[in-house]
Amino acid sequence: MGKEKSLGQFQKDQMLTVEITDIGNDGEGIGKIDGYTLFIKDAVIGDKVRAKIMKAKKNYAYAHLEEVVQKSPFRQEAKCPIARQCGGCQLQNMTYERQLEFKQNKVRNNIVRLGGFDGEFVDSIMEPIIGMDEPWRYRNKAQYPIGRNRDGKIVAGYYAGRTHSIIPVDDCLIGVAENKEILDIVIAHMEKFGVAPYDEVSGKGLVRHVLIRKGFTSGQIMVCLVINYRGRKSGSAGVGEKSGLVEYIPGQQALCDALSKIPGMTSISVSINTEKTNVIMGLEIHTIWGADTITDTLKGLEFEISPLSFYQVNPRQTDKLYGQAIEYAALTGAETVWDLYCGIGTITLSMAGSAGKVYGVEIIPEAIEDAKNNAKNNGIKNAEFYCGKAEEVLPEFYEKKRVSAEGSALPESALHPDVIVVDPPRKGCDEKCIETMLKMSPSRIVYVSCDSATLARDLRILCDGGYELKKVRPCDMFPWSGHVETCCLLSRKEVIIDVF
Ligand code: SAH
Repeated sequence: MGKEKSLGQFQKDQMLTVEITDIGNDGEGIGKIDGYTLFIKDAVIGDKVRAKIMKAKKNYAYAHLEEVVQKSPFRQEAKCPIARQCGGCQLQNMTYERQLEFKQNKVRNNIVRLGGFDGEFVDSIMEPIIGMDEPWRYRNKAQYPIGRNRDGKIVAGYYAGRTHSIIPVDDCLIGVAENKEILDIVIAHMEKFGVAPYDEVSGKGLVRHVLIRKGFTSGQIMVCLVINYRGRKSGSAGVGEKSGLVEYIPGQQALCDALSKIPGMTSISVSINTEKTNVIMGLEIHTIWGADTITDTLKGLEFEISPLSFYQVNPRQTDKLYGQAIEYAALTGAETVWDLYCGIGTITLSMAGSAGKVYGVEIIPEAIEDAKNNAKNNGIKNAEFYCGKAEEVLPEFYEKKRVSAEGSALPESALHPDVIVVDPPRKGCDEKCIETMLKMSPSRIVYVSCDSATLARDLRILCDGGYELKKVRPCDMFPWSGHVETCCLLSRKEVIIDVF
């Protein structure tokens, strides 16, 4: 009783009418009543809504949108009928223009508030967000869980936000059109051949997920079925097996025949995952039809993609984002560049052609293998890749004089590069990594970030360490979600010696 009272006039289940005057970090609507803040998912800035308090704290509450009393000029009908349940797109009922403005402001405000930069200064160096001309069907990769709906029918869909119940998806509008066709074939096949979907609770059933990838430039399509296969391992041919292939899925040949009719189909495989885990892919992959990989072209280079490879999911925007990073790097052909957190080397290799030497560092060994192969396949000879944590590899070279792949010490030019590019995961750069970057003192640092809060923190450290923030450019890689990528240019402050 006493606890509820301390919340003043606001309590759980209370209905309120409020105007939405701001947008939260994840795109949710924010309204205020007498200084008390309400966070309301799916409410759009400019709306007047009726909402029910779900969880009340001292100064703020989370409320559920019950009714839009007055529509905001920025509100639009979500294109996808299950946008609200699915949890993948948080902003489908906000116009795309307003969404871009929200993302631009989010980056700006984080840099000002969390990075401690002056607002007017940030406004003077920020460039307009790179939006998409056509913000639909942009994803080249989809992973659909397979399960049963309440009537026992096999369905493919998405896990409802933070749960494990599957919401059937008819046609996800941020994925490619072929996804639906592929899923329809897989499900029809499962029904016809009596193939059971995997059941998370019992651990029984076969098909867990369907992974689909498409090369946007090449048009090549890959399908990988993640299966809970506990039969014989490959290599030991048995009864009913054609061409020595193990039948991982009942009626496998018929399934491959049907899928291979889809234009662009290049690779069909299975990934074996028998663990009770949230991790989607199993590491054992067997190709059951066609090639092991698909290829795609990015910045004029060919990249080979296997079911397990990391590859940016929005290729059209990736091309623009990398283009921005390349422009900021301002390479003339002779420079030495480090690309930290390089993944499969996409940024590294797209800079190699206009640099003297490029070095890539990445923590995942398979990604480094892919990066080396990608360099070889594209005839790039001035790239070297190292596997390890950026915060360990960089100091090893700089402080402990570790030797290069060829067995000699790295040249002085590598220890004092012209440009360092970083593209860290959401948690940003490790302190030790930044500390070493500052010691290496490149002329320019290009920071590509998927989280503007950690970006702001790191920009502050870099600027306190002798760098100047020159440019900031957000890029919309994930339309209809609250996420935003940012590319920044920093340059080393020249030490001016006053001779007078
Ligand atoms: N630049 C790449 C990948 C960016 S994603 C691209 O555009 O495709 C961030 C990458 O950082 C991932 O590949 C992840 O495996 C890697 N990573 C995460 N922590 C790391 C660390 N401490 N040191 C080096 N790489 C790391």
